[in-house]
Amino acid sequence: MPELPEVQTLVDDLNYAKVSGAVIQAAQVFWPKTIADMSPRAFCHLIAGKQVTAIYRRAKYIIFDLTGGWHLLVHLRMSGHFHIASPDLTRTKHQHVILELSDFRQLRFTDPRKFGRFFMVSDVYPILGRLGPEPLDKKFTAHLLGLCLLPRKRMLKPLLLDQTVIAGLGNIYTDEALWQARLHPHALGSELRMPQIRSLHRAIRKVLRQGLRSKGTTLGRGQTTFYSLGERQGQNRNHLKVFRRTGLPCLRCRTPIERQIVGQRSTHICPQCQIEV
Ligand SMILES: [Zn+2]
Repeated sequence: MPELPEVQTLVDDLNYAKVSGAVIQAAQVFWPKTIADMSPRAFCHLIAGKQVTAIYRRAKYIIFDLTGGWHLLVHLRMSGHFHIASPDLTRTKHQHVILELSDFRQLRFTDPRKFGRFFMVSDVYPILGRLGPEPLDKKFTAHLLGLCLLPRKRMLKPLLLDQTVIAGLGNIYTDEALWQARLHPHALGSELRMPQIRSLHRAIRKVLRQGLRSKGTTLGRGQTTFYSLGERQGQNRNHLKVFRRTGLPCLRCRTPIERQIVGQRSTHICPQCQIEV
């Protein structure tokens, strides 16, 4: 699933491609469930003629600000990604939504797993208002991370994945941050001490910034991994220390990396470096 670095990379690419500023002349929906809380017909009617005035990210949502006070929020979920295509290019079977732009380009939403969702809203608060802080924001200090984690008697892995606690982390960057901070995914938020919180704070920001510099993590060549515009792959795989490195030596202590299930999620740890609090 695309996480903060992948979604930000896609947002940057959409802005670079000047989708911001374009007018959406019409829309076509081929998989009705992609449009949340609204019929495809109502969605197409509502979005036609609206100009995209800004594109940005909050947590794992892409937000298209539209004229008339509307916002299109897109969550890529497992496998959603965008293409820019010419109108004469034949639609492929996984392209579920087509936005026809006024400059004779089409923004196509491809989603083999079909979990991606479009939310057309006039008020973003019901969706974005419940999200936790942005970990790369200046205001996200170690003190704030402590305020997020210390009241919660939950294991760190599910805690860091919870978007209402911290926004933007998923399975890859959570595993990487916990390894960097030498913390076990079973450790409880409420039992962390301040040096560990500071270390986790540094680690979260470090792995996310590395992911951004590498323009996201693309794993393998399947249809469900991350691609930005133009099918461009992210290069962060080369920087992963534990994620999908099961059986390979830890880069700090040479102990083989183990894969465990924590909170129903596949989790990669070094059993030697990462201690339970
Ligand atoms: Zn180790």
